[in-house]
Amino acid sequence: MTRRRICSRMCVSLMIISILIGISLGGCNTTPKEIAPRNVILLIGDGMGVAQVYAAMTVKKDSLHMEKFPYVGLIKTSSADNYVTDSGAGGTALATGHKTKNGAIAVDTAGNSLKSILQYAMDANLSGGLVSTSSITHATPASFLAHQISRASYQDIAADFLKTNIDVFIGGGLDDFSKRDDGRDLTVELAEKGYTVLTSMDAIVTHEKGKLAGFTAPGHNPKMLEGRGNMLPDATATAIRLLNQNPKGFFLMVEGSQIDWGGHANDTEYIVTETIDFDEAVGIALEFARKDKNTLVVVTADHETGGLGLNQGNIVDGTVIAAYTTEGHTGVMVPVFAYGPGAEQFTGVYENTGIFHKIKKLMGL
Ligand code: MG
Ligand code: ZN
Repeated sequence: MTRRRICSRMCVSLMIISILIGISLGGCNTTPKEIAPRNVILLIGDGMGVAQVYAAMTVKKDSLHMEKFPYVGLIKTSSADNYVTDSGAGGTALATGHKTKNGAIAVDTAGNSLKSILQYAMDANLSGGLVSTSSITHATPASFLAHQISRASYQDIAADFLKTNIDVFIGGGLDDFSKRDDGRDLTVELAEKGYTVLTSMDAIVTHEKGKLAGFTAPGHNPKMLEGRGNMLPDATATAIRLLNQNPKGFFLMVEGSQIDWGGHANDTEYIVTETIDFDEAVGIALEFARKDKNTLVVVTADHETGGLGLNQGNIVDGTVIAAYTTEGHTGVMVPVFAYGPGAEQFTGVYENTGIFHKIKKLMGL
């Protein structure tokens, strides 16, 4: 008898056995509460379409961690006011389950605040974290925590961090907290609120306990091509280690921000190096989830950037001949990769807002 047939007939009992002996539940279509994920790690490759992923696979000449995910889907990315989304509306859709206008950060088309999956998790006493290779105040991470009409209000977005009890955040953007037009030093206010404020990866990776505000650059972090090194995988591992100290569970968003910037620059080497680096962070999350057995990992993108086409390539040499249709974003669907309890829910073709709704339902929030 095949595993799928066993699963359809004896799903509940197999689940209990599976949990006991720790095997994966690949074939089951239902997700009873007893296998709901305790932790969710959402990784967003900004501007990462299917061509970006395949270019990275080709140049790496080896499989990506993203290829190890058993469930794959596609999401539609249009915003409330445009066929082609920006990262504010795209991040807001993933974070809050609502389509909004381009440029908005977790507010609806009328400007009302939208509650993010990160906030839902923290309100349920789970821990919450954000990691990004851009400034932590940039559109994608901001959509999970701030509420602003304009993504360009970086100092206001920084101030919004003080209105939450986020447990861990690691990324660039120190100047938006400490060199402000209103004279406030938010790093001092963070420390008064109980955060350990650190400004180097060397210090961040050694942080053992308690709330962490980790600043890795005054503004955006450097490109991989300019020596960012292991910042993203190391920050991802550190955030997971700290957040996992909460037995109730956690929600973590990790962003590979600069795949998008490589797309805007029509710079294939920039795209590929950033995608491979993002995939290293995906590998860290996947390794944790495999050991933990109670963590859902979802990898997706907010939109595609550049209209990247791979007009030719060579798998043996690890080369691609790329072409671009634009220096902006495009409207194509982007991939979703899922692993862990509930991962099968992420297959098929659906709207970007579905990511929020599926995670919220699976976590019972
Ligand atoms: Mg971004
Ligand atoms: Zn962009």
